[in-house]
Amino acid sequence: MLVDNHNREINYLRLAVTDRCNLRCNYCMPAEGINFVNNDKLLTIDELKKVSKVLVSQGVNKIRITGGEPFVRKNLMELLRYLKQLDGLDDISITTNATLIGPYIDELKNLGIKNINVSLDAIDRTTFERITRRNQYDTVHGNLIRLITEGFNVRINFIVLDGQNEQDIIPILALMKHYPVSVRFLEEMPFNGGSKSFQKIAWDYQVILAHITNHFPDYLKLESPKTSTSINYKIKDHKGTFGLIPSFSRTFCGSCNRLRITATGDVITCLYGSPKANLRTILRGKDTKVGVENAILRAVGNRAKSGFDAQKEHTGVFESSMTSIGG
Ligand code: SAM
Ligand code: SF4
Repeated sequence: MLVDNHNREINYLRLAVTDRCNLRCNYCMPAEGINFVNNDKLLTIDELKKVSKVLVSQGVNKIRITGGEPFVRKNLMELLRYLKQLDGLDDISITTNATLIGPYIDELKNLGIKNINVSLDAIDRTTFERITRRNQYDTVHGNLIRLITEGFNVRINFIVLDGQNEQDIIPILALMKHYPVSVRFLEEMPFNGGSKSFQKIAWDYQVILAHITNHFPDYLKLESPKTSTSINYKIKDHKGTFGLIPSFSRTFCGSCNRLRITATGDVITCLYGSPKANLRTILRGKDTKVGVENAILRAVGNRAKSGFDAQKEHTGVFESSMTSIGG
């Protein structure tokens, strides 16, 4: 079992398989001039397998595949097939923009990978295209509905962006009234590749909840697992639920059970902190298993207590993008 220096058990790995993406969401990346890393700096599929195996042997029982866009990664399915047969790994989930997942839906279903988070920040076409800077609205909506109707456990991640998509909060809840989906509203974080910087946000989780309450006053707060980052609610007569993720307010750090590995092998113990090790160099040397185990133990043993403490590890300027960190 992995336990950090603040006595929090770490059993959840977010594994980025690429830093590339076919969208250019304006809260995640600048429109142009992104420095994607050279291919040889990305962990290979074999290296991703090795890292996963070591972490599962250390007590990780949930892996979320993220990116960049996971489905732009060649041979992603080979990794998923491998993960599926790893003893001790109970939950494999994927976060995707749902543009490229279509051809893989049947195989995902056959593999029993059911937990898919779809990032969707608008239900209005123009707003979607303005935010993502691409013309993929029909594909995303088609794949989303297919995932839901084929029985996947779908959660929608909706980042509330001041002046851009707040008008879609109520319509997306109204649309999802008929679907067993959780719509989770996230606060915007300052990881956008340096295209925009901010110290505070207009739409924090309390403002989002007040806005929803104005339209749907009849809701219940749901019990959530201790390590959940979302505060969850159910609106009366809605099939689905909604959640609020205080990713900027950082109210959930006390029970954080996550570790992140970027597509280049950086070990990140908090989104707001600096990388604690790089596994790529270790994996390309000798004694890889022991080397990775020790690097993970050192990183986990030296975790900031909260995102605010982690932020002090660097100058406070966030130049990185979620496409390299994996969200
Ligand atoms: N491409 C996939 C997708 O969009 O779902 C996976 C990678 S994406 C970086 C993972 C998550 O990070 C997405 O849910 C995305 O909305 C979120 N994200 C990206 N930039 C963010 C930001 N500046 N603030 C908050 N969340 C962000
Ligand atoms: Fe791509 Fe996901 Fe970032 Fe959007 S949020 S640009 S889909 S990596």
